[in-house]
Amino acid sequence: MIDITMNGQKMVVRKNQTILQAARENGIKIPHLCFHPALKPSGACKLCGVEIGSPSGRKVVMLSCVLKVKENLEIQTESALVSAHREKAFNRLLQMAPDAFRIRSLAKEFGVPVTPPSDGCIRCRLCIRVCNEIVKASALKMGKHDGKSLVVAGKGQCIGCGTCANLCPTNFIQVKDKEGVRTISLKEEVIGQLLLERCEGCGKMYATANFLKHVAQSTLSHPDTKEHHCLCPSCIKLMSNRALTEGEHLKK
Ligand code: SF4
Repeated sequence: MIDITMNGQKMVVRKNQTILQAARENGIKIPHLCFHPALKPSGACKLCGVEIGSPSGRKVVMLSCVLKVKENLEIQTESALVSAHREKAFNRLLQMAPDAFRIRSLAKEFGVPVTPPSDGCIRCRLCIRVCNEIVKASALKMGKHDGKSLVVAGKGQCIGCGTCANLCPTNFIQVKDKEGVRTISLKEEVIGQLLLERCEGCGKMYATANFLKHVAQSTLSHPDTKEHHCLCPSCIKLMSNRALTEGEHLKK
């Protein structure tokens, strides 16, 4: 057995054990992810850094899963040096696994500030531009969300065309059709739930009533397009092909 000091507290610990093992046996918590009692230590995650005092008075951070206890070793598991090391180590891991819940909750448990998780939006504004310039529903804009600038939706303005989701390069915007209802969401936030209409040709649910109304209004000056608004793209194609064949047949 040997004497060490951990966080100012003198303790007698087993020879040949690591600082992490000694800390665990004495109820002192040190964050770690790559340590497993059945395996040899590797020090890969670097979370278990602790401050070691040297006789010269210099303080250094060393990995407690690898370093073994020594007679009269002075260890600090919480200090400014340790906090800076931990923050760097946590953020390094989060760069590789940004959404890892276990890493984030461990950082929270030890009060380590870490980069917030990515929200999945790259701020290209394609969705806002297409909704304004082409669809002309103006349902999306940049706004504040949790203190950050993000795509937000105006209340009740989405007509459920799905164009923004088709253009979104990261799948941040999603369209789901289920049981006659189309749901448009910005990540988890639902921005529109609209009833789908059936195609008069094949009976398939193909577009929202609001979108069809919007198209009908914007094409008022082109009445010849009206008959197409109640058909899905497949039926329109079928109709056009049929008209072409009939035209050619008449010419003969
Ligand atoms: S689905 Fe809604 S938000 Fe997206 S382009 Fe169409 S109207 Fe705009």
